[in-house]
Amino acid sequence: MNKVPFVTKEQVEEIVKTYPTPFHIYDERGIRENVKALKEAFSWNRGYKEFFAVKATPNPFLIDILREYGCGCDCSSYTELMLSGAMGVKGEDIMFSSNDTPAKDFQLAAKLGAIINLDDITHIDFLQETLGYLPKTLSCRYNPGGYFSLGTDIMDNPGDAKYGFTTEQMFDGFRILKERGVENFGIHAFLASNTVTNEYYPTLAKQLFELAVRLKEETGARITFINLSGGIGIPYRPEQEKNDIAVIGREVQKVYEEILTPAGMGDVAIYTELGRFMMGPYGALVTKVIHQKHTHKEYLGVDACAVNLMRPAMYGAYHHITVLGKENLPCDHMYDVTGSLCENNDKFAIDRMLPEVEVGDYIVIHDAGAHGHAMGYNYNGKLKSAELLLHEDGTVQMIRRAETPRDYFATLDGFAIYDKLMEME
Ligand SMILES: *Cc1c(COP(=O)(O)O)cnc(C)c1O
Repeated sequence: MNKVPFVTKEQVEEIVKTYPTPFHIYDERGIRENVKALKEAFSWNRGYKEFFAVKATPNPFLIDILREYGCGCDCSSYTELMLSGAMGVKGEDIMFSSNDTPAKDFQLAAKLGAIINLDDITHIDFLQETLGYLPKTLSCRYNPGGYFSLGTDIMDNPGDAKYGFTTEQMFDGFRILKERGVENFGIHAFLASNTVTNEYYPTLAKQLFELAVRLKEETGARITFINLSGGIGIPYRPEQEKNDIAVIGREVQKVYEEILTPAGMGDVAIYTELGRFMMGPYGALVTKVIHQKHTHKEYLGVDACAVNLMRPAMYGAYHHITVLGKENLPCDHMYDVTGSLCENNDKFAIDRMLPEVEVGDYIVIHDAGAHGHAMGYNYNGKLKSAELLLHEDGTVQMIRRAETPRDYFATLDGFAIYDKLMEME
């Protein structure tokens, strides 16, 4: 697939007059078309709901777009709950899927009326002690252990993942919860990440549906929803084929009708907690080439760094790169594209074939819309960039300003050096 940026050189030249590079920019049209397709794919299920994984892109303007389509929020921390609460997302529109959870996070989740998804059997007592009661609706996160494979392809290694209840603990947990008055049960599992195949959800759904039937039969629990969580991926590489959400929805429906419906569970709601799939392709990091260096290799130094997008540095992740205005030139030059951190892993690309680049060129780093800006950090005292939203009518709105030195030093406010720092700005 030819990866084409959703902004052109002409648009970026206009935008930088107001908002200098680097910046993250999001494509409203792409976000809307995708969420519509997702809703349509699961429209066969009456209770279907997507809880957007807030951690992927915790920007209220973007989440508000998804809310127009009935999406809720999937939160895993105190501040994510705060953000959702402040946006007016409450009650069963929040899924709280946390792990190693502090008491005060559970308290806020309960106060907002969120659905709590427990990560461990010991959290039953912990939650009860923390709240003084157990909510009427609770969900448990399942981890079957071993490897998760599709045919002969191992997709991920749940046996090595810190999350969830074992199979035995699911049965024990449901019995305990039922004895203690819980009325409505959910099942959740996240067994493989960034899957670029239409088979992940249907395969996961089959496992969870079979487990649900057994849980219902053996514990008598009333299961009201099954949460397929995140994990539907995106094609970061041009040679990968995009997931077809309509096919995924249809295949999940088939398994549902095979397993749940005959077991008298045709009223179970399907939930998803997608993050990457909802935003990843619809965000890009735009940066400018500010240096070229010719030593043992050819380097392009850009004005963004791993602080703006750490996936390449952290996981060696591939992000496609387009040099704006040079889309149709041959990629006959090899470069390392680097940021300015004092860390040699601060490279957006290594040995990447690109057209011949000059200082001043604008570069689009694709698929930065999820786990991009959000993962940013402040190493080397670097500041996080602004976030912009490209509306369907072509106008651009700033939806988060860039950090300033004042933000970076804010935690020294009240100490003697703070006033001096502020004078230096
Ligand atoms: C990260 C996460 C998600 C979203 O994952 P994606 O790969 O972005 O779809 C959903 N649920 C939970 C509990 C998560 O931790």
